[in-house]
Amino acid sequence: MEMDTIAAISTPMGEGAIAIVRISGPEAVKAANQIFKGKNIEKVESHTIHYGFIVDPEVNEKVEEVMLSVLRAPKTFTREDIVEINCHGGLVSVNRVLQLVLNQGVRLAEPGEFTKRAFLNGRIDLSQAEAVMDLIRAKTDRAMNVAIGQMEGRLSKLVRQLRQTILETLAHVEVNIDYPEYDDVEEMTHRLLLEKATEIKAEIAKLLETSKQGKILRDGISTVIIGRPNVGKSSLLNSLVHENKAIVTDIPGTTRDVIEEYVNVRGVPLRLVDTAGIRETEDIVERIGVERSRQVLKEADLILLVLNNAEPLTAEDKKLFEAARGMDVIVLVNKTDLNRKIDMDEVKKLADNYPVISTSLKEESGIDQLEEAISGLFFTGRIESGDMTYVSNTRHIALLNQAQKAIDDVLSGIDAGVPIDLIQIDFTRTWEILGEIIGDTVHESLINQLFSQFCLGK
Ligand code: GDP
Ligand code: ZN
Repeated sequence: MEMDTIAAISTPMGEGAIAIVRISGPEAVKAANQIFKGKNIEKVESHTIHYGFIVDPEVNEKVEEVMLSVLRAPKTFTREDIVEINCHGGLVSVNRVLQLVLNQGVRLAEPGEFTKRAFLNGRIDLSQAEAVMDLIRAKTDRAMNVAIGQMEGRLSKLVRQLRQTILETLAHVEVNIDYPEYDDVEEMTHRLLLEKATEIKAEIAKLLETSKQGKILRDGISTVIIGRPNVGKSSLLNSLVHENKAIVTDIPGTTRDVIEEYVNVRGVPLRLVDTAGIRETEDIVERIGVERSRQVLKEADLILLVLNNAEPLTAEDKKLFEAARGMDVIVLVNKTDLNRKIDMDEVKKLADNYPVISTSLKEESGIDQLEEAISGLFFTGRIESGDMTYVSNTRHIALLNQAQKAIDDVLSGIDAGVPIDLIQIDFTRTWEILGEIIGDTVHESLINQLFSQFCLGK
């Protein structure tokens, strides 16, 4: 497939001062050369950087002092010729440089088009391409590590191994069928299928087990703070935001209606949810009743229920427990610097198996224990192994669930003594579903839809 040449502003992560115009395609070097004053970059070696100026060829005027990288195919991100123009002069001048590039017959890239080309040219598979998007959106180092692991192909490798096992098993079954002169072929084949299908089921289950944590790392723990007026909800919110770097996300190149606020608690992004404008929920139960509060609260992953140490428990406190029943809750008994009037035995009874943390937000004590409780609730130690593969992408999780169902069909088929060729069909279906994760068996429309979610310049 012959591709045209595309360009976009592609600013590196974490660097504000430098902006990059990236050009990719067969005409990339030629187009850049027409507006570059310095070396003749059509003659330079690949993977070299050159100092010079971008000029407006129509008026022969210097527009921008730049460093320009020439990267020849195929050892590039897109596997096409790439030119990267590093501009130092802020947004206005980088836009001018882009405009000049576009005047040379280069087309403005669509969101995600560079990554899409890397995929189409076989440089990365689909799960790796999706990881690029996760990486752009990652909110903490841990989330970033998960994305990087996926980008490096850790998930792809596991999925490929599973598919390979399925193929080999199917091949083996074919051989058995072709040589029916052996004794017990039927039984041998059933045994082989049972063994391999059981193995694959366990591997898929292992991956799915990581998905809750993977999703949390990727999307954050959506958190709601509830409590009676004056117990210290605002103080809690403030100390969480101040102790931890608040991450305000505004994904470059996309327009978003809501700007969400994240805080980084031990590598876990906590998303402080603005539920219908009530992030810290004053009087929620009083206002809308227990049942409706339950509906609102259900959307949260975590509820921080704040009580006042210096006052006896009230009926309202008890209604809050009721509204939060069945969810992940951490109970805070705040204002421990004041004399205790609350009945802790009763608190513990209401809390049942929720963690109960004593805090004095005024004296800034108890926050550490709270953070420990938060990360303990969602990550029971296992996150510490940094090289673990987490499945975090909703599409991957859905496919793994489908694959698990298909493999269950294989197993129940064997159990029921169903003819081998019918079992083969379910086994093949498992292979196909797993292939969708890495993009071996997906439709073009899905690919277009996935890549359209990307940011410009990636
Ligand atoms: P909210 O109504 O639940 O949001 O409670 P606020 O966070 O606005 O706090 C209500 C009042 O209690 C404020 O005057 C806070 O300074 C005070 N307060 C919050 N935490 C503590 C604490 O741990 N000890 C004491 N003594 N006062 C606190
Ligand atoms: Zn408040």
